[in-house]
Amino acid sequence: MTIPNNPTEIAREAFRQLATRRVPPTPDNYRMLYAEISGQASDGEAFPEKELKRLAHELGQAAPGQSRLERDLAEVITRQDWEGVRRTLASGFGALAEAQQLAWSRLIGELFRQWENKSADITPGKKREALDRALAIFANNPRALFTRLENLQRAWARGEVANDIALTDADLPESEAASAPEAAPVGDRMAVLPELRELFAYTLENCIAPLLVEQPRFSSEATALAQAVRKANTLSQLATMQSTLKQFAFRLELSIEDQAELRASLLKLLRLVIENIGELLQEDQWLAGQIEIVRDIVEKPLSQRALDDAEQRMKEVIFKQSQLKLGLQEAKDALKHMLTGFVDHLASFAGATSDYHDAIEQCARRVSAANNINELESVLAEVMQKTRAIQLNAQQSRDELRATQEKATVAEGRVKALEKELAQTSHLIRHDQLTGALNRRGLDEVLGKESARAERHELPICLSLLDIDVFKRLNDRHGHVAGDEALAHLATVIRESLRPQDTVARFGGEDFVIIFPETDLKEAVSAMTRLQRNLTRRIFLYENQKVLITFSAGIAQLQAGESQSSVTRRADAAMYESKKAGKNRVMVAAA
Ligand code: GH3
Ligand code: MG
Repeated sequence: MTIPNNPTEIAREAFRQLATRRVPPTPDNYRMLYAEISGQASDGEAFPEKELKRLAHELGQAAPGQSRLERDLAEVITRQDWEGVRRTLASGFGALAEAQQLAWSRLIGELFRQWENKSADITPGKKREALDRALAIFANNPRALFTRLENLQRAWARGEVANDIALTDADLPESEAASAPEAAPVGDRMAVLPELRELFAYTLENCIAPLLVEQPRFSSEATALAQAVRKANTLSQLATMQSTLKQFAFRLELSIEDQAELRASLLKLLRLVIENIGELLQEDQWLAGQIEIVRDIVEKPLSQRALDDAEQRMKEVIFKQSQLKLGLQEAKDALKHMLTGFVDHLASFAGATSDYHDAIEQCARRVSAANNINELESVLAEVMQKTRAIQLNAQQSRDELRATQEKATVAEGRVKALEKELAQTSHLIRHDQLTGALNRRGLDEVLGKESARAERHELPICLSLLDIDVFKRLNDRHGHVAGDEALAHLATVIRESLRPQDTVARFGGEDFVIIFPETDLKEAVSAMTRLQRNLTRRIFLYENQKVLITFSAGIAQLQAGESQSSVTRRADAAMYESKKAGKNRVMVAAA
């Protein structure tokens, strides 16, 4: 081929080549052919086929499943088709983004499923702990977080608690795992675990040190260790750290044993004191209830809930007793006042009687000395008048004494009644007398305390309200006494069916409320269903007749920030739904 030597010919030849080579007639292609034909160097803006193909190859290797993108790109690059390159890249990256998004949404969906899946071995608390730890440790590494969460979810599905604190290479991004061979300096590995190290230091500083507040030496040692953990970056620093930690743990273990022994001795002492006071109180029943509460506490394993409960009950008892004692004091004062009045009266009566005796003696003397009937008459008149006066006085005194005696009897009765009430206060203050369940007031207190605890620990809590079915018919058929006994029977079966931490209260006539701490809706439903079953087994007998009791119930789970009255209202509404749906059933409240 002759080389065209003027621009017009070169241009014409370039157009011809575009057609024969079937190259798209783009400005770049034209420029490239023009440079080729004219023998001049390209100005650098020709189609960068080689570079693009290398890029396509690297993209294909970057992640599994990208070879299709590489093939498609290679094809459009060979055709030097810029538009094709743009299209292929756009659709390739779109698909990639979509795939990643799908993986996250699938993972989150799976996690939620496993989260809600109840397992006896993995409590919600354990799941939360594992999740929190994964989120804290891998906060800055989305890929490692994804792998970790996937591992967690799979472990939960198998009913296992994931062994999550032991970081394995599988948890690390590939590049980091590859660059951390066994013999690599610890510093390298530590570089991928700063969060873990920080977590350890945090635990020492903010959890262990405050726990040791009563042993300041240990407490400041824990804080110092936390600082040392933060600084340990090299192997030798870590080795020193390890031996210091071992020694610390060993001494701490000994101290914990000492503390346990100390606590046991204190409790023993407290038990002895209580026993002794109990003996001394045989006569004085007022304190019996309070002593009983403390005895109850020290006999069981210590728990915050029991202590709170005891404190509340003590306060109630002390308040009620102070009121009663005031009434008692008043009644006793009144009695004393009456006695004093009685003694005064007796004294004045005695005085009057002795005046009368003196006057009569004088009259007797005047009678002996009288010389005529006239003198006698006037003495007689005086005797009559004095006698009448003293008679009147005696009568008045008798009436007054009788009235005082009556008043004293009333006051004495009141004193006795108040004393009896005082003795019973400790036992009955928060309980409904018929069923022994908590009364409304007791319910408010327990619900307040339990809901606050649930919010603080972010634990679920449920409330169920149940109402006996066709209770009126039971009353009509068997009488009110049978109704009362049925209520007591139901309360007993409820108590027997519940866990120790659950609480039952009588809400109204034939309504009961049950509080289920640390329980979600599913668990509460199964507890209520178990109660239904138990009630059909433990049939109520009235005068040897079997009387079937059933109930309708509604259950609501306390929502974040929800008030006590609102959760009770929702449970009540669900109970009405159960009634409407045919009774003898348990329904869950709408949120
Ligand atoms: P439902 O299935 O719709 O709940 O019907 P029910 O008959 O249970 O309800 P209703 O409200 O018509 O009647 C409740 C009855 O419960 C009427 C009341 O006399 C009786 N009751 C309430 N408190 C007591 C109590 O302390 N003792 C006794 N024996 N009966 C009570
Ligand atoms: Mg009813």
